[in-house]
Amino acid sequence: MYPGSSRRTAPIVKFCVLASGSSGNAALLATENTRILVDAGLSTFQLRKRLKAIGEELNAIDAVVVTHEHSDHIAGLPVLGRNRDIRAVIYLSRLTEPTIAWGEQRPARIETFQAGAEFTIGDIEVRSFSIPHDAVDPVGFCFEAEGVRIGIATDLGYVPESVKFHLRRTDLLLLEANHDLDMLKVGPYPWSVKQRVMSRVGHLSNLHMSDYVAQDLDSCTRHLVLGHLSEHNNHPAIVQMIASEVLDRRGFATRLSIASQHVPGEVFQY
Ligand SMILES: [Zn+2]
Ligand SMILES: [Zn+2]
Repeated sequence: MYPGSSRRTAPIVKFCVLASGSSGNAALLATENTRILVDAGLSTFQLRKRLKAIGEELNAIDAVVVTHEHSDHIAGLPVLGRNRDIRAVIYLSRLTEPTIAWGEQRPARIETFQAGAEFTIGDIEVRSFSIPHDAVDPVGFCFEAEGVRIGIATDLGYVPESVKFHLRRTDLLLLEANHDLDMLKVGPYPWSVKQRVMSRVGHLSNLHMSDYVAQDLDSCTRHLVLGHLSEHNNHPAIVQMIASEVLDRRGFATRLSIASQHVPGEVFQY
């Protein structure tokens, strides 16, 4: 072994979807110095378990950034906020914060931001942007660290131009592919729920997702992760088929991955 061969080869930026879907959402974004959870829609038990599975610790998380107040994104947040062993600062939009049922005591470690604001957590730059969804003040995020850009846009009824702007030139994009319209129409949901899901403040259909991939995805996007799949009105094989067909048509080398509700997905490293 010569001296140079022991050089550090650890990845600089790491991203993993721990859970994605209507039963709970959470993702990890980490650099060498900073660890962020995006949403805490799982119990602290599940968060610990899934983080451990990818070699991470909940107690070492520096911040939780929250997209919106629906329970599948915040279910674990009040307990996490009360736990003195967990040091994570909770970042929520100014209008989202009052909607959270914190319980007896509001956690001390809360930072609020205006939707659309940019801020820094450790060595990660965070850009929030409004998304069309039936929550009080829902946001997506674009993160940048060590020259790597990661975009997250789930829980949105359609992709407006403003969101497209924020998702440009991402190295990794987590985008919603919630439902197949035909499956939703004949599926088990009551008509009022079907209307809500299909509306412009509902969830992104496979069709909307494929339109985005066909027209707006940048060729520089190395990884496209499709998530928040409905367990009743969609199937990973359908999503995989639709998206890979569009990527093939565009001649993109973008790697495709489908996020799971039940287990942590691939750990992407840059
Ligand atoms: Zn959701
Ligand atoms: Zn939602």
